[in-house]
Amino acid sequence: MASLAELARDIALQRSLLLYRLAVEAARGGDYDHARRLVEHALELLKRMRLRKPYPLRRLVCRNCGAPLIHGVTARVRLREGRVVVTCLLCGYIRRFPFRAPGERGAAGPRAEEA
Ligand SMILES: [Zn+2]
Repeated sequence: MASLAELARDIALQRSLLLYRLAVEAARGGDYDHARRLVEHALELLKRMRLRKPYPLRRLVCRNCGAPLIHGVTARVRLREGRVVVTCLLCGYIRRFPFRAPGERGAAGPRAEEA
């Protein structure tokens, strides 16, 4: 049986994801300020409950202006020399995430040379 503290943390996690979904809806509707406030609220909640940020709040939020990054709507996504380049279309902030294609040396997952 989960303790009250565990339940509270789970509710906070679910609520942060709900806030993110609402932020995406607001951004799609063009209300970017409201979207940013919802994202801010979600991040504040996670911090207060000392929770690890779930994927969307880690990767799909602009580090500069706090807007939700929706591919093709508020963010441009391009592949460049082993990196995913995500540009925020609202403020122009750029983030780069390295990746390796499957089968390439150093790719994630089981590797042939280690077998
Ligand atoms: Zn931005």
